[in-house]
Amino acid sequence: MAEKKMINIRLLVDKEKNKVVFAESDKDFVEILFSFLTLPIGTVVRLANNETNLGIDALYKSVEALDMQCLQTEACKKMLLRPRSEADHKNKSLALNYLGSADLLDYYICPKWTCTSETHCLYSMFESATCLCGQKMNRRFVLGKNITDDNRLNGTYIVNGSGKFMISDDLEVTRLSTDTTFQILSRFGIKDGSALEEIKVSVGTVEVLDLLKRSMLSKKPMTDVFLMKQKGIHAKTIKTEKADKKIKSESDNKPVNLNLLIQKSQNKVIYAVVEADFVDFLLSFLTFPLGSVVELLGEFSQGSICNLYESIEKLSNIKPEIMRSTDNLLRPKIACQHGCKNQLLPIEEEKKAVTMCESCFYAGLGGNCIHGFYLRKAYLCLINPKVLAAVKETGGRFMKESIVFMVTDELIVEPFSQISSISFLNKQCVPFNDLEERSVSVGKQEVSAHSYYTLIC
Ligand SMILES: [Zn+2]
Repeated sequence: MAEKKMINIRLLVDKEKNKVVFAESDKDFVEILFSFLTLPIGTVVRLANNETNLGIDALYKSVEALDMQCLQTEACKKMLLRPRSEADHKNKSLALNYLGSADLLDYYICPKWTCTSETHCLYSMFESATCLCGQKMNRRFVLGKNITDDNRLNGTYIVNGSGKFMISDDLEVTRLSTDTTFQILSRFGIKDGSALEEIKVSVGTVEVLDLLKRSMLSKKPMTDVFLMKQKGIHAKTIKTEKADKKIKSESDNKPVNLNLLIQKSQNKVIYAVVEADFVDFLLSFLTFPLGSVVELLGEFSQGSICNLYESIEKLSNIKPEIMRSTDNLLRPKIACQHGCKNQLLPIEEEKKAVTMCESCFYAGLGGNCIHGFYLRKAYLCLINPKVLAAVKETGGRFMKESIVFMVTDELIVEPFSQISSISFLNKQCVPFNDLEERSVSVGKQEVSAHSYYTLIC
């Protein structure tokens, strides 16, 4: 899984302050930084070992612990814990495969070719789904396996041959400046050059994963990763006005019912007893790509990820010729069939119709088979893994509708039972006479605004 490959970058370091002033690199390193925005939140949490410092960490752990009985299908758990991304096939061609997950490009078809090519034309994200013809879909293929070389040649997000980049400590990426050294140093507030030192560092998978985590946590991820290892910073207040506005325009007003258990003396919610819809609503966050979450929330996390996002906007405005497909980074879609009925944010879902050649089983997202067998292509539709029967329709639920859940103030989600709620209360050491039950019915938009706040703080 871990690659030995390394990328070399140069850092200008302020020795006295033990701080990275800026780094210089070619596109290989910058493309890796940019690719962070394509990752679903669930992937970010997984790669950061549940240490993003966002409320979502607890949610991720809850899904890991959830009994299969609570979920519509086994695939639902996999989709939440290892969500796919619209950019999986692109990210495979990055200079460093820090995602280490080749299986994200694995798909399955019906073993009967005429069924795949003419009759039902389906493919599946997970092995052994049942095809409409009744056969198990267990013939594996790798999506776009030949695209990789083309991408590497031309650049995944940045067009080849575009020279060097400067990366500030807080992940602002710009083209290498033609300014004089003096101008650059004054831009970074350096008055005395004697404390500066150039160091060369090698970036491998470990450093990239650390950068991803720290981009969510810190305003100086480069210093943290390359000069010191600093533990997380405490959350601060985060604005959500932008998000609220977007939600208001999108949401319907169907009320959601919550039963809250409140600690009267502290006016604090101990836990809420909620329906499966509400849990779907929260968990869908794991499938959202980071770039779209940044777009919708404006300010997101106390880290530097927003600077990275803004750098891409600026680069594509100033030098549109060097950037390739910025929609992939600035407005990435939810992976095909990952959207659910009760989705939290208005993020579009990818529609992925795959073409496949009968002779070589080359499958891509359009274009021709590399061998030119245009005539023997099948156009395939991805089936929805949230539903047991093979269906092409999107949406659906992750959780079984009949199950009632308990969501704590820390966003731990568990199926509700009297015993677990009582033992949870005992652990909280709240005297029972200080408790009060309250039923509230709130509009979807209020829940949205509130959920965000909890998720990101
Ligand atoms: Zn079939």
